Amino acid sequence: MFVITGPSGVGKGTLIRGLMERIPALELSISATTRAPRPGERDGVDYYFMSSAEFERRLAADGFVEYAAYAGRRYGTPQDELQRRLQAGVPVVLEIEVQGARQVRASMPDSVQVFIAPPSLEALRARLIGRGTDDGEEVERRLAVAEEELGARSEFSYVVVNDRLEDALEELVGIVSSRLD
Ligand code: 5GP
Repeated sequence: MFVITGPSGVGKGTLIRGLMERIPALELSISATTRAPRPGERDGVDYYFMSSAEFERRLAADGFVEYAAYAGRRYGTPQDELQRRLQAGVPVVLEIEVQGARQVRASMPDSVQVFIAPPSLEALRARLIGRGTDDGEEVERRLAVAEEELGARSEFSYVVVNDRLEDALEELVGIVSSRLD
């Protein structure tokens, strides 16, 4: 299992899309979230969008491998789908934030953990504003979390700095390939 983490806006999504194209055997875990869908996002494809009550119910039923509160919303990795894939020997990729990555490290120490870092906090701010998916307040909330998350990079066995996308993707593909067999 591969855990890809790092601050919001660092390019995890883009890198993971590239990774999945390069290594088609990988499957991406679809998370549950209580945040609202962004324009174009689809339920069951990008996330399982759910109410806080539904999230709580699943949490109480032990339905999440890990979960976290992030910028006022909750996110979690559904247990059933992940277990099914792992039992079938399918390599799975999780795209999650740092608190969740720590939980997975504790419960599944064999998971491969990769931290994606921005070249700088300023570069991250520019990307968060540039991608235009979050309003000003949300960008500030995400940057505040990002500062904390950046302090966690030394906990990770692999760190990929996403300066030039192609270089970062090459590095990520190299890491995942080396750990696949
Ligand atoms: P976004 O709202 O931008 O889609 O995601 C916000 C943050 O939550 C990102 O850092 C993303 O990687 C993280 N995230 C998405 N799904 C999960 C999950 O299932 N668990 C955890 N812990 N974080 C998640």
